[in-house]
Amino acid sequence: MNTPTHKHHTWAEPYKIKMVELLRMTTREERLAAIREAGYNTFLTRSRDVYIDLLTDSGTSAMSDRQWAGMMLGDEAYSGSENFYHLESVVQEYYGYKHLVPTHQGRGAENLMSQILIKEGDYVPGNMYFTTTRLHQELAGGTFVDVIVDEAHDPQNAFPFKGNVDLEKLAALVDGVGTDRVPYVSLEGNVNMAGGQPFSMANLRELRLYCDKHDIPIMLDATRTIENAWFIREREDGYAGQPVRDILREICDMTDGCTMSAKKDALVNIGGFFACNDDEVFQKAQNLVVVYEGLHTYGGLAGRDMEAMAQGIREAVTEDHMAARIGQVRYLGRKLEAAGIPLVEPIGSHAIFIDARRFLPHIDQEEYPAQALAAELFIESGIRTMERGNVSAGRDPLTGKNRLPKLELVRLTIPRRVYTQAHMDVVAESVIGVYKRRDKIRGLKMVYEPEYLRFFQARFEPVS
Ligand SMILES: *Cc1c(COP(=O)(O)O)cnc(C)c1O
Repeated sequence: MNTPTHKHHTWAEPYKIKMVELLRMTTREERLAAIREAGYNTFLTRSRDVYIDLLTDSGTSAMSDRQWAGMMLGDEAYSGSENFYHLESVVQEYYGYKHLVPTHQGRGAENLMSQILIKEGDYVPGNMYFTTTRLHQELAGGTFVDVIVDEAHDPQNAFPFKGNVDLEKLAALVDGVGTDRVPYVSLEGNVNMAGGQPFSMANLRELRLYCDKHDIPIMLDATRTIENAWFIREREDGYAGQPVRDILREICDMTDGCTMSAKKDALVNIGGFFACNDDEVFQKAQNLVVVYEGLHTYGGLAGRDMEAMAQGIREAVTEDHMAARIGQVRYLGRKLEAAGIPLVEPIGSHAIFIDARRFLPHIDQEEYPAQALAAELFIESGIRTMERGNVSAGRDPLTGKNRLPKLELVRLTIPRRVYTQAHMDVVAESVIGVYKRRDKIRGLKMVYEPEYLRFFQARFEPVS
């Protein structure tokens, strides 16, 4: 191997800084006022009041000089933009699907796919739900059915492939409702809600065999599939040292199409796409996209956005990038683990997930412990995180009751190429600071609840 030796020593960033954005620091009083104003919901705080922003890794990446240079090559034509054809060829090359329909972001693609493939009364099996994905399935008349392996629901289980599909759960559903009622299997790479956990290639192979036998397509949520490919390279027999781009292709080649939020893996601030191999589905998507997003050669994006995405995909599949990306997340995770902070194991790809049930065992789940902890981290040091628990899970459409998920988590999401190791040290110190005074943290009650995706806009007050 002629691997450069520096790679063996550290995950150090494979880039240097060319431009900086100054951060603003605040006092504890200012932060307390800000979080009260925001109804104890970090989504409603203002970015100017945030010191280190770990709310999400969505659209928050730092673009490279090449991506910025690509922005200047934007061909802002209403139809047939050069940047569309460039992006199409890059998606064909790296993801391997025949057809591409750009969308403004991931949920735009989910809307198209759900409306095209799901009929009223259908069931859509998936390896754990994602908020927007499930909502679009429900709005199209479908019912989401979780078929992820049990290990994924246990934060302390260190199984290396917690994103795997449980083939028995899938078969039980298909046998129960019949193949006609199952339009596709919804397969997510590096399952976000499970803590950024990958599926294995072996599991996907088995799933493919099963789906071929029953004539059910597999539609990939490709949002973090490059990161999934990295974990396969690290953990699965036969993949050590394989190029990430080859593993990505192998995954995509076993699926029938995908939705993509390019705001994650693809290193852009906005963008997404739907891609597939089936000509008829493509034609329908091309037609529907003009209703919701824009013409089929821009789908709600500017030409420059598509150019930045094409370049971002090229950079995202490099081993240097992935080693640093996952290395930074792991660096933070190990620091917290060493301090005894309860985390979802194993440490995932894009975020550290704090287990709020174990962090705040004195707060009942109906008093939103993860929401309370996210607010507390903001008050402590201006670090903005998000809740992934009772609030995010929402209510069961049939009973109207809170779904009370097993996972009650706070997500510290690391934007790509944005923060340094010193920032990670500050984050660790802050979490540890809050942990030391955890007994004094109180739960919350919800005082305003929006109808859709309530976690974005719900408002809370501390319980007395
Ligand atoms: C972010 C995300 C989406 C939705 O994409 P948007 O670009 O935010 O609309 C879908 N699936 C997964 C797994 C995601 O992380």
